[in-house]
Amino acid sequence: MNRIVILAALAIVALICGCATSSQTAAVGGQTGTCEVCRYNNDLACVEFRRKETTPTAEYQGTTYCFCSKSCQAAFVKNPGKYANAASRGPTQAH
Ligand SMILES: [Zn+2]
Repeated sequence: MNRIVILAALAIVALICGCATSSQTAAVGGQTGTCEVCRYNNDLACVEFRRKETTPTAEYQGTTYCFCSKSCQAAFVKNPGKYANAASRGPTQAH
């Protein structure tokens, strides 16, 4: 019975935190970054995050992109054009 309560609590914590990285607030430098993968996926909870020394980055066409997590970095590296193009276009604009 207790296990169910713990699992429920963990689920709530995961929902509040949204991102794996946001639980650690020991920031180095205090710079914020924008995760283009999360922005592309409309995962607004993770779009803006605090940059750390361990923040994953990837370079594409001379621009360095940083990511909220390694899974986002991996997604970007797999298909950089998809996310980089979305980044250069900016937020979706109806024309
Ligand atoms: Zn992300």
